[in-house]
Amino acid sequence: MSLEITHLGSGSSGNSVVYKNGDTVFLIDCGLSTKQMEKRLLLAGINPNQIDHILITHHHADHSKSALKSSIKWSARLHSNLETAIRMGWQPMSEVRTFSDLDRIEINNNVSVMPIPVPHDNADNVAFIIFTGGERAAYVTDLGEATDELKKHLKGCSHISIEANYDQNKLLNGPYPDSLKRRISGRGGHLSNLQTANILREVVTASTKSIVLCHLSEKNNAPHIAESEVLMKIHDFFDGDLSISGKKGPEFTHSIGEDASKRISMDH
Ligand SMILES: [Zn+2]
Ligand SMILES: [Zn+2]
Repeated sequence: MSLEITHLGSGSSGNSVVYKNGDTVFLIDCGLSTKQMEKRLLLAGINPNQIDHILITHHHADHSKSALKSSIKWSARLHSNLETAIRMGWQPMSEVRTFSDLDRIEINNNVSVMPIPVPHDNADNVAFIIFTGGERAAYVTDLGEATDELKKHLKGCSHISIEANYDQNKLLNGPYPDSLKRRISGRGGHLSNLQTANILREVVTASTKSIVLCHLSEKNNAPHIAESEVLMKIHDFFDGDLSISGKKGPEFTHSIGEDASKRISMDH
């Protein structure tokens, strides 16, 4: 049974990806209002009441905004680590199931998800690896650098969603104050296009069929710059689908293991 992956939105105004495996539907991150989440889920062909689980990477609002409210409204089980639950004011066990690093979270008989810790300022952030039928998909965002442990798990994933937050030159010459520039480019900030390209060069293999670049900064990046920087590093061995998730999804759906995406009508 395939795993279908649809990005509902990406960037500082809100992040969420919906995964569908047969009748099982789950979200990673829920960083838009409940109303926006519902609108975008319907555009992706999913009734919000179908959502079984919501997994949250970290407490920043662009990832967690409506998680508790949406989980109650849709009767979905909410998952985060303890630090994120505390920072959000959620009650462990009554409102949220807490996980620890490298736990296997069973979604159904066919799908499990593993959280991997990543460095991100003032947050206990995780990346997720989704395991299904011998294949893996990855969701990696909001980190200053990739650890060896993360790269080990990313290697050979069939689908990789990864942030490409900023272009080094645009950030350096852009409008942000120096302190913010340092924070974004530091170990606890975000990945630059070049960092992402270098990570992908290490972890993409012949098994990798689709890559989605996400969380692009509106001020410090541009889709064509991110795409060309990544392609420059991987074009000699990657011939799958490379897409960019913008702030207003859903735009496309990937099926794990396939090297093409299905477009979603953009009349919204
Ligand atoms: Zn973010
Ligand atoms: Zn963040």
